Amino acid sequence: MSKLIDGRAIGEKVYVDLRHEIAELKSRGLTPGLAVVLVGDNPASRAYVRSKDKISRELGLHSVKLELPASTSQSELLARVEELNRDPAIHGILVQSPPPKQIDEAAIVRALDPRKDVDGFHPLNVAKLALEDPTGFVPCTPLGVLRLLRESEIDISGAHAVVLGRSMIVGKPLALLLMQKGTDATVTIVHSRTRDLSAITRSADILIAAIGQPNFVKAAHVREGVVIVDVGINRVEDATNERGYRLVGDVAFDEVAEKASSITPVPGGVGPMTIAMLMSNTVKACRGLCSGGCP
Ligand code: NDP
Repeated sequence: MSKLIDGRAIGEKVYVDLRHEIAELKSRGLTPGLAVVLVGDNPASRAYVRSKDKISRELGLHSVKLELPASTSQSELLARVEELNRDPAIHGILVQSPPPKQIDEAAIVRALDPRKDVDGFHPLNVAKLALEDPTGFVPCTPLGVLRLLRESEIDISGAHAVVLGRSMIVGKPLALLLMQKGTDATVTIVHSRTRDLSAITRSADILIAAIGQPNFVKAAHVREGVVIVDVGINRVEDATNERGYRLVGDVAFDEVAEKASSITPVPGGVGPMTIAMLMSNTVKACRGLCSGGCP
């Protein structure tokens, strides 16, 4: 039976370090500030925004939750982003995805001050990741996955890491992060057009699934001793659950856990690490913006 990689416990370790850093910043009169913008009333987005706000308050950050109606126009949202860019009390800005249809999300991301782009989606930060420039911001989920692997003492250097999925939020930045000098994985990305996907996944030492397909990865996709990180968060109907659904990952946990050496659960794996890395990026943004002194 495999070892469980506990994202909640590792996230708590991150918070212990962050509390020290935040106390040190506060002793210099600096309070890191995070603004989370929610447009519309998507229930999953609302839940994410609530937990980000709750955790930033618990850590003692200055937390601003901006809830805008679903009818918000592109120009109205751009104006709010500009205000936050100018606000000296705000060091990190996140616009919760997905926005309503009338919003051009890419244009909103480009309008963010890249020094406050704690989600790491601005083109300048994407370039910095590719260039291995540590002053940039790396998207929170890939950063959380790397931290989970490191804290679990998984041997990444030289390992064959297979990433399932090529999104700009998870798959692509994660591949860049894993292949960086100093991390040194040999990376393969697979996606919906990949031929003979299971032959590739079976050759993985580390398999990271981020495709949004419930229970897609089966025992036949993996070899004995593989390390599994399941990024997927999928709602599946469940009449026995009072909410009418339950959350499952992209990996069929029970059968794959029989073969894996280590595996993350869903929930309680990557999810808590994503929020912990958002807090960490906000503290980093505060340090960066205030290195010459903040007002
Ligand atoms: P996207 O839908 O943006 O991307 C999915 C990727 O998976 C695409 O590259 C797609 O390929 C690929 N894919 C889809 N189906 C298959 C298939 N059958 N075989 C091979 N590849 C496939 O998803 P995200 O990256 O945004 O999210 C992925 C999952 O991770 C979701 O469940 C999401 O909820 C979860 N997630 C969890 C987070 C966390 O904090 N734990 C944070 C972010 C996401 P193609 O490009 O060819 O279409």
